[in-house]
Amino acid sequence: MSAEATIAVNLARCVGSTMCIQVAPSVFALTDEGQSCVIDAGGDPMERIVEAAENCPMEAIRVEDLRTGTVLFPLTEES
Ligand code: SF4
Repeated sequence: MSAEATIAVNLARCVGSTMCIQVAPSVFALTDEGQSCVIDAGGDPMERIVEAAENCPMEAIRVEDLRTGTVLFPLTEES
């Protein structure tokens, strides 16, 4: 599956809860440092990726639609 999203994990926020990995296991994986990283942006359907971001307790995941540039999560961006 080709990637439809640009996904970023904010490592300053990620606490390694693995929620994102449970929801989208083909997209996210845990690094040796115990934080999430993107292994394949197209590994799971877009709905799962957004669901993973929504379930992150730290709001550490940002998802952008690759084609439109629309930010799908978070819905209101903080600076
Ligand atoms: S759900 Fe959030 S805090 Fe937990 S591992 Fe994924 S990015 Fe990190």
